Amino acid sequence: MEDCLFCKIIKGEVPSTKVYEDEYVYAFNDIHPAAPIHILVIPKRHIESLAELKEEDKEYVWKIHEAMNKIASEQGFKENGYRVIINCGKDSGQEVMHLHYHLLAGEKFGPKIVHCNGKMK
Ligand code: AMP
Ligand code: ZN
Repeated sequence: MEDCLFCKIIKGEVPSTKVYEDEYVYAFNDIHPAAPIHILVIPKRHIESLAELKEEDKEYVWKIHEAMNKIASEQGFKENGYRVIINCGKDSGQEVMHLHYHLLAGEKFGPKIVHCNGKMK
């Protein structure tokens, strides 16, 4: 936890561009955006991944979803829509072991969302 990049971002020890914050959730711009809008939405509790979610974390999950809706409204992309991606574990390519939702918007995405060994599925 002490070495967790996203815990450090929450504490302000590593800089980030904040988009939204409440008691449960912190959201900030991804440093390498994959879309015109690419926001990372994270719980303020250190949860390693979707696979590590526990019953006692459920309020965080709801709050993240609520926050994404608020952000979409505030930033004006709720009507056009958005894509949400969560990587979980090594086959997904999850690099930061603190649960995070990639909130992507600002363009029309293609129908294919899975990229595997250079091939779209
Ligand atoms: P994942 O591959 O799902 O673990 O996603 C990790 C994401 O964190 C990537 O999209 C990175 O670009 C992003 N990222 C890594 N370091 C930072 C940082 N210091 N500030 C903002 N985003 C970051
Ligand atoms: Zn963490």
